[in-house]
Amino acid sequence: MCAIKAIQDFSAYLCAVQELQSTYTSIDQRLFSHVHALAMPAPAEFLFNAALAEDMGLSSLIDSSHRAAILSGQKNWGHTQPFAQAYAGHQFGHFTILGDGRALVLGEWINPDGQRVDIQLKGAGPTPYSRRGDGLATVSAMLREYLISECMHGLGIPTTRSLAVVATGMPVYREEAKSGAVLTRIAKSHIRVGTFEYAAQLQDLDLLKRFTHYTIQRHYPQCLETEHPIESFLREVVRHQAELIVQWMRVGFVHGVMNTDNMSIAGETIDYGPCAFMNGFDWGTVFSSIDTQGRYAYGRQAPIAQWNLAVLASALLPVLHSDSERAVEIARECINTFVPIYEEAYVAMMRNKLGLLNPIEGDLLLIDELNAWMQQTHADFTLTFHALEDKSQRIQDIFYTAEFEAIARQLNLLKSVGHEDAKESVVRMQQHNPRFIPRNAWVEEALEKAVHDDHTLFNQLLEAGSQPYEQLHYLAHLYTAPEDQPHYKTFCGT
Ligand code: AMP
Ligand code: MG
Repeated sequence: MCAIKAIQDFSAYLCAVQELQSTYTSIDQRLFSHVHALAMPAPAEFLFNAALAEDMGLSSLIDSSHRAAILSGQKNWGHTQPFAQAYAGHQFGHFTILGDGRALVLGEWINPDGQRVDIQLKGAGPTPYSRRGDGLATVSAMLREYLISECMHGLGIPTTRSLAVVATGMPVYREEAKSGAVLTRIAKSHIRVGTFEYAAQLQDLDLLKRFTHYTIQRHYPQCLETEHPIESFLREVVRHQAELIVQWMRVGFVHGVMNTDNMSIAGETIDYGPCAFMNGFDWGTVFSSIDTQGRYAYGRQAPIAQWNLAVLASALLPVLHSDSERAVEIARECINTFVPIYEEAYVAMMRNKLGLLNPIEGDLLLIDELNAWMQQTHADFTLTFHALEDKSQRIQDIFYTAEFEAIARQLNLLKSVGHEDAKESVVRMQQHNPRFIPRNAWVEEALEKAVHDDHTLFNQLLEAGSQPYEQLHYLAHLYTAPEDQPHYKTFCGT
């Protein structure tokens, strides 16, 4: 006991004296620019995620009376100099040089688990990468990222986290003047597929090697122990992305703008722009107003992830092997692992949603039939699995049709043929089918009210989102949407 106490005291001591670091800036000066936040006359805290701060060992920040000033970039946090990262990206398939146009990394922090994370401010003013943008963000967009990212975390899906939203007290001009805000985001890192594209286009083999080594050491250090660390690294990134997309599919999450600059190498969901959760099932679900071709539709997320990974592989070619033909072969082999990994994980995920504890002949056919039925009827994705779990949860007429009854009967038949334990099966379903997803109508209403200083609904959504697998009776009204929104649209860059 004494030893444990001593270690705890020592960790607390380390946290107290710990400073932000910036190992990223020691890789190469072409990968970043030092920046300053825009001067803001009256930053005021809107939201602070005390639980996350606690988990991260940020007690000095929790106690600070200068929190709003620090988290809007107005007051220095230790001695590190904030920096914006350079990156490129394929946006809707087209290569562009980008970079943090409205974000700056305050520094890196070692959390109590020993993990290095970035602390980044989003919306703190222009940077050398802003192009024609103003570097700013609206309160509404930053609250939206805060809410959705925290809901994703509650759902158990790897994601960047949101620590705070600070109102800048300054206007942001979109179609009309809106209030500005800065979001503090915590990520394993902000290294993206697009960062590799940026490093590769500099055509400096030594830089690409150093950058790749840095990334492997930071995110996949186990690869350094293998015979071919860079190939192992690429395989790991492919696996993490495939598994991440399966998790998105499980809850009906549509990222909306899966450009290569919005795909994290660490396998976290990142850059919440026009994302939203699907209500009625449709593979073609698109919310983003600019995704007119459905490139990033719900059902296209896996092939697009694989496409993005092929872009990563292509950036890595010069360091994968000195023989360029062999490098292409290795890259192809790695990228080809995506489909089998994805398919296996997808089927396992669907079995869990259906409460099928063991693979059984006929389960794949049932998954196909269920998907086809949901596609045809546009039944609510989330509620469909509740209706399969328990007859008392068939709260919509569609769950009393002969077709649905047939699917439910077939599922029960498979479970009895497989001698599955009924209680365990229900528990499995409840662990994999959330009661709560942040439904669009509620999110919109909550944001609208929050920008007018009524935080009640926003806080309720945050609370439901922190325990989405629980049946919270006092928040049960949030488990369905007040109305279906067939033409719901989201907008990015807001
Ligand atoms: P996103 O689609 O939000 O991932 O952003 C794509 C690119 O546009 C990134 O390089 C962003 O930094 C940049 N960007 C987005 N909004 C702004 C803005 N208001 N000002 C400057 N740059 C922006
Ligand atoms: Mg982005």
